[in-house]
Amino acid sequence: MFDATGLVVTPGLVDIHAHLYEHVTPLGVDPDATCLARGVTTAVDAGSAGASTLQGLIEYGIKPRRTRVLAFLHATLHGLASAGCSGGGVGGELDSLKQVSVEQAVAAAKAHPEVVVGFKVRLSADCAMDGAHEAEAYRRALEMSSATGLPLMVHHTFSTVPLGGLEGCPGGLRKGDIYTHTLHGFESNIMEPVDAAPAGEEGGKRPFSSPDWKIHPAVHEARRRGVIFDVGHGQGSFNWRMGEIAAAEGFWPDTISSDLHSGNKEGPLYDLPTAMTRFITLGRSLQEVIRAATATPAAAIGWEDRIGSLGIGREADVAVFRLEACDVMLEDCQSQRRRCTQRLVPAAVWRAGERVAVTQPARFPNEESIMSNRPSWDGLVVRDPEPPEDVPDHVKATHYLYSGEKKAKTGDANPVVWRRKEGEATLMCGPCGGGEDGGGVSTTAAFRRLREKASLYKCC
Ligand SMILES: [Zn+2]
Repeated sequence: MFDATGLVVTPGLVDIHAHLYEHVTPLGVDPDATCLARGVTTAVDAGSAGASTLQGLIEYGIKPRRTRVLAFLHATLHGLASAGCSGGGVGGELDSLKQVSVEQAVAAAKAHPEVVVGFKVRLSADCAMDGAHEAEAYRRALEMSSATGLPLMVHHTFSTVPLGGLEGCPGGLRKGDIYTHTLHGFESNIMEPVDAAPAGEEGGKRPFSSPDWKIHPAVHEARRRGVIFDVGHGQGSFNWRMGEIAAAEGFWPDTISSDLHSGNKEGPLYDLPTAMTRFITLGRSLQEVIRAATATPAAAIGWEDRIGSLGIGREADVAVFRLEACDVMLEDCQSQRRRCTQRLVPAAVWRAGERVAVTQPARFPNEESIMSNRPSWDGLVVRDPEPPEDVPDHVKATHYLYSGEKKAKTGDANPVVWRRKEGEATLMCGPCGGGEDGGGVSTTAAFRRLREKASLYKCC
């Protein structure tokens, strides 16, 4: 007997974006510790495994777990085995298109219908031979999806693939496909400036740090077609400013997912209930927030007849939450903060009728995580007008743009971190995490010149 007086009883949460191939991919975590113990009874691994590594995920990441684990199969054969995060010269999973086999991906998905609920591709220049392979990888991933009738989940950041147009992202997405990281504020986000330049020489290019943004028409069109917009909170993809602009337009992501991985479980994400808490803070109703983490994600993966709601004859996956009064300045992924007065805290969880223990993040909010994620604010396109508080002096200091031996002082108020090898020149931000010989932060004019030639780094 469990007395749930004054508490919120929900179906076990369904998280459609997490990284759960522990010890095999750098991002992988144990789902029982940070999913199940926080109320998530079904978690979908978002592309850790590809056709060549799926069997390993089943043996070591699914069978031994109490959490129900499903998978989006990565478009590449090896999934995210060596490409845990883009950037930093590590290389990306789409650096070789030989690894993107429609035939093998389709065969693996068809062989494991009890596990594979869709496909995943990351459209980010750094994951795909500096962007050279992005369009083709996207085309092949869409083909995998059409051949099986399963949805494609896309990650779209710092991409050479545009938003609009038939080949764009979301332009090329179809009903049922899932656009994750909806509220990231970096390059390739869902916004356009309110005063967007008409098509022409500058057409399609966004002025840097324009103060006013609105959702791009291609995104509204995609929603009308039935494309699903997912949060994929992660380490970089929840931004208060993005959330507020979207909320003001009444545009709420359809599904709230965590993008839980090894780099964000002690902040800035913490866990799925904390991601849900942020949407309550943005003004979404508790009921809507719960639906976005139960029934809607279950339907998005075609499992609505089994999970995501409470019903007779189903496995008893149940979570109980306390909507706790609090007063904290809650951070987003770039350390921008908002006052949070209500927090969703797991109180009890049952998976298939068996009760499991609940846990809490070690620290909440975790100031160490807030400080370490703060420098990524510099790389945002959509962000608060003022930098987050508690900025260390070295970050506030004048930034320099380094290009080989040349150094140009810049006094721009809106520097953007630039880390990229461009020919002989290495452009690194020293103060914000680059090399010890100081760094470079490109500013509006310099940034525009450089982006003609190359794409930015990005790590989610
Ligand atoms: Zn992810």
